[in-house]
Amino acid sequence: MSTSLRYDLETAIKEGEGCALCWLEQRQVSRYLQGVSNDGVNNIPLRIRLAKRGGYCAEHSQQFAELAHALSSAILLESFLKQKLENAMAGKRPIQIDCEACEILSDNRDSYAKSLRRSNKDQAIQDLLLNARLCATHLQIASHRAPPLFASQLSGEYNDLMHHLAEFIRKYDYRVAGKEQHTEAEKQSIRNALKLLQER
Ligand SMILES: [Zn+2]
Ligand SMILES: [Zn+2]
Repeated sequence: MSTSLRYDLETAIKEGEGCALCWLEQRQVSRYLQGVSNDGVNNIPLRIRLAKRGGYCAEHSQQFAELAHALSSAILLESFLKQKLENAMAGKRPIQIDCEACEILSDNRDSYAKSLRRSNKDQAIQDLLLNARLCATHLQIASHRAPPLFASQLSGEYNDLMHHLAEFIRKYDYRVAGKEQHTEAEKQSIRNALKLLQER
């Protein structure tokens, strides 16, 4: 298991720009949506099942429309809308969206969390995770039940950012204001914090 985790992390670090684990989850969701686009659209029971679940959430409807052929998008979105319009015309209770793509993402997150917990003492995995630019959510997942030294090393990746944020805040203090300028890194700290917090 740790061999495939290692391979996945290596790929994500090489191919992706942000958090390696977000990249792996996104890859899984894209593969699923691509599969639905390729042959699922002609699969009537699948279309009915998805429509009954209320279709996809806004983000995954958008993602589907971006990666699928326009005809596939039109067919699928038509079936989602039709279900909702019929529901509305019958005056029924609104259908809650139970997005299958979100479910895929969440299952994928659970399975990575499990394999990370199994491998968090492995030096090679630890080294990869220290290079994986983890977001705040995945930082916590990777640190869960990890050896304390490694967990503190992982969080230590963000010491500079935390320092820049603290300095950004400090320089707003009335005793300092106007006397010390914000550095470029401090000015970037809000944007960098947002990147770290862009969890799902
Ligand atoms: Zn992430
Ligand atoms: Zn979704």
